[in-house]
Amino acid sequence: MHAHRFGFVAVIGAAFATSAALGLADDKSSAKDKRRVPVNVIVDLSDAPEAAAWVYRAKPLVEKWHPIIADMLKSDGFVPASEVKLVPKKDMKIPAATSGNVISISVDHISHHPDDYGMVIHELVHVLQRYPRVDKDTWWLVEGIADYIRYYRFEPKIKLPRLDPSKASFRDGYKTSARFLAWIERKHDRTIVKKLNLALRKGEYRPELFQEWTKQSLDQLWVNFVRAMPAR
Ligand SMILES: [Zn+2]
Repeated sequence: MHAHRFGFVAVIGAAFATSAALGLADDKSSAKDKRRVPVNVIVDLSDAPEAAAWVYRAKPLVEKWHPIIADMLKSDGFVPASEVKLVPKKDMKIPAATSGNVISISVDHISHHPDDYGMVIHELVHVLQRYPRVDKDTWWLVEGIADYIRYYRFEPKIKLPRLDPSKASFRDGYKTSARFLAWIERKHDRTIVKKLNLALRKGEYRPELFQEWTKQSLDQLWVNFVRAMPAR
């Protein structure tokens, strides 16, 4: 459902990662954690037991980031999934996919990109989005918000590739849309992602909302974004 064409360049077999690299360090929110939704992460190794070590490194990451992301994407009356399943798969054509609360992970992908734990965070966002309607008008935002949380919250220091303005569009989804949203957030509206999440969750998103919130249409915003072309 959600394909990803990117990953980190990493040496095969170098699946070692420090706790800091995994975003497990620097936990200052223990008091807050008590109010957060507990998550039960289930690992299903029936298809690919050889991925056990990798998936068991992803598990505490999901446990840590589930409440953080659920908080970022909260809305009145919405109850986030309290169970997340991690399922490595042998025969997958795409790096990862999420269906409901099940995150399928390509064994082939993680063997070539053993450091790509950010992909799990992206998929975890999908578990927690649960928007009622994902179509041609909204999918770029669904993927953009998933990468926004990945690259601007989970991996805020990672370098992003140069963007080619002659080919790119905010409708591309993924990194490009994430970058666009992060720029709108910095320039125009600190709460843009929160507001988009609420609109998407209620099934009330329409492009005119950008005009209402920022006083510029999506196309005007894009022209100004390309002009500014932020490195991140
Ligand atoms: Zn996705």
